[in-house]
Amino acid sequence: MTSGKTVLVTGSTSGIGLGIARVFASENYNVVLNGRKSSDATDALCEELGQLGEGHIHFQACDMSKPDEIENMMADIDPIDVLINNAGMQHVSPVEDFPTEKWDLILALNLSSAFHTTRLALPHMKQQNWGRIINVSSVHGQVASSHKAAYVASKHGLIGFTKVCALETAETGITANALCPGWVRTPLVEEQIHLRAEKSGRSIEEESLALLSEKQPSKAFSTPKQLGETCLFLCSDAASQITGTSLTMDGGWTAV
Ligand code: NAD
Repeated sequence: MTSGKTVLVTGSTSGIGLGIARVFASENYNVVLNGRKSSDATDALCEELGQLGEGHIHFQACDMSKPDEIENMMADIDPIDVLINNAGMQHVSPVEDFPTEKWDLILALNLSSAFHTTRLALPHMKQQNWGRIINVSSVHGQVASSHKAAYVASKHGLIGFTKVCALETAETGITANALCPGWVRTPLVEEQIHLRAEKSGRSIEEESLALLSEKQPSKAFSTPKQLGETCLFLCSDAASQITGTSLTMDGGWTAV
């Protein structure tokens, strides 16, 4: 039997978003997957997730950096009970060389998309007096690293936005929280490891250990499945009074 609830996970064709979507599909949620374009690969993902549980799995193409496409998507899909704003991207460059179009794109995708989905999802959540908004921020929403100006600014902004949503819904059955992962080995991080390995001449595995050792005391990656299970916990009754917070999962990164 389906849970009767529908979850939208933005940017869910790979990495953390896909891991979260798999966990919700296994718990019989109806899942709306999202990425820029539909393809044979997205059809295959719908089929794969459909076999995990009883919920309906649907893929919705939408470029999350474009407000008009987000409006169309939100009008097309079923009302959303659990909104997981996950789509995001990175660009690494010193501030003075940071391409201005990359800055605009990262802010649009990592931050503004969450504003647009949230403003469009809230009326249904308020009407039924229940909803969950989970914004995938980052440890970079709490501390900075060099050469990640747009990413760090967008992820700090997402935590501020989460707090406002929590205050505005505090007397309802809706909660809004941010997740702050440290390193998770996904395509987004794999690209950074490859760039570093090209520069240093070290192997991919040596470079991934170096990356972890610099920031994450556990020297271990979090997994998309762990993030999905944390999201599921936030949807439980046990978490009904957890709102406006940032859940940090960083192997000790910000404890230093
Ligand atoms: P990823 O590159 O594997 O996944 C990003 C997803 O976003 C992909 O499914 C991609 O198709 C989608 N996407 C990209 N641009 C899009 C667009 N314009 N419209 C719609 N979808 C788009 O990366 P990931 O590591 O899984 O990152 C997911 C989220 O987690 C991001 O917000 C990222 O900032 C955050 N995060 C990642 C890490 C990490 O270590 N991997 C750590 C902290 C936070």
